[in-house]
Amino acid sequence: MPERLGPPLKEPLFERVAIIGLGLIGSSIIRAARQLNLARDLVAVDANEAVLARVRELKIADEVTADAAVGVRDADLVILCVPVGACGVVARAMRGGLKAGAIVSDVGSVKASVMAQVEPHLPDGVHFVPAHPVAGTEHSGPDAGFSTLFHNRWCILTPREETDEAATGRVRAFWEAMGSNVEVMSAQHHDLVLAITSHVPHLIAYNIVGTAADLETVTQSEVIKFSAGGFRDFTRIAASDPTMWRDVFLHNKEAVLEMLGRLNEDIALLARAIRWGEGDKLFDLFTRTRAIRRGIISEGQDAAEPDFGRRRQG
Ligand code: NAP
Repeated sequence: MPERLGPPLKEPLFERVAIIGLGLIGSSIIRAARQLNLARDLVAVDANEAVLARVRELKIADEVTADAAVGVRDADLVILCVPVGACGVVARAMRGGLKAGAIVSDVGSVKASVMAQVEPHLPDGVHFVPAHPVAGTEHSGPDAGFSTLFHNRWCILTPREETDEAATGRVRAFWEAMGSNVEVMSAQHHDLVLAITSHVPHLIAYNIVGTAADLETVTQSEVIKFSAGGFRDFTRIAASDPTMWRDVFLHNKEAVLEMLGRLNEDIALLARAIRWGEGDKLFDLFTRTRAIRRGIISEGQDAAEPDFGRRRQG
C-alpha cells in the first residue's frame, strides 16, 4: 500500500481550516493538511481539554480552542470529526461563528442522520458538503492519527442536488490532495452500502467476540491462546471505539436492520447446507467470496501478503 504523500502544494487550497474533534480522523486530516500545505492556518477544536493539551504538545495546529464558535471564526472550511451522535450539538455550538460563504463538511460514518442533525443549524450562505472517508483503524485519539491514512482510500461525498457545485468541488480537491479517490452519491445510498460493507461486519465482530467471552465451556485463556484461527481478525475490529460505533448503529438503524435481516436468512441457508451435508453449496459460496477478496487486493484496497502482512508468529 502506498505510504507516501505527494509534494506540498505551492498555494494552499484554503486560507483557514477548522477541524472539530481531534481523534483518529481529525488528527489525521490536520497532519495531512499541514504536510501538504492545504491551508494557511489550521485550527483545532475539541471539547476534551486533555485532547487539546496533547494537540498543543504535538504541534499539529496553529490554534487550539475548546470553543467551537471561536474556532470556526473566519474559517473557509470547517470539518466536523466528532462521533456521529455529537454532530447536531457541535453544529449548534459553532453556528454563531461561521462566516458567510464558509464550507462545512464532516467525516461521519453515517450520512442521512448527520445531514438531518447539522442542516437546521447552518445559516443561509453557508455550504454543507457531507463527506465520509472510508479509511480508519481500530485506534482513537490524537496520537492514533497519521497523515497517509486517506492515501489510496475512497472518500464519499453526499451533497444535496441543490448544493453549490463550487463548494463540492473544493471539498473534492481537498480529499484528492490527501490522496483519496472521491465518489459522489446520495446519503441514503451511502448508508445502505456502508451498512453491509462496514457497519454489519463490525456488529458481527462485536457479537462473535462477546459470545466467545461469554461461553462457559471455553475458558477466557483458551479464547486468547487459540485465537489465530480467524477469531483474532474479529478481535481487531471488535476493539474499535465504543462511542463511535454505538452512534453508527443508532444513527443508521434502518439500513443496518435491513441488512441484518438479509444476513440472518443467508446464515439460516448455510446452517441448512451444513446440516444436510450440501458440500457443493458451501464450496460454491466460498469460491465466490474468495474472488471478492482477490478483487479487493487487485484494486489496491488491501495487501496481498498472507495474514494481512503480519509477521508470522510460530
Ligand atoms: P475519536 O478518535 O474518538 O475522536 C473524536 C474526538 O471528538 C475526540 O477527541 C472526542 O473527545 C471529540 N468530541 C466528542 N464529542 C465532542 C463535542 N461535542 N465537541 C467537540 N469534540 C468532541 O473518533 P474518530 O475515530 O476520529 O471518529 C470521528 C468521526 O469519524 C466519527 O463520526 C466516525 O463515524 C468517523 N469515521 C471514523 C472512522 C474510524 O475508523 N475511526 C473512519 C471513517 C469515519 P472525547 O475523547 O472526549 O470523546
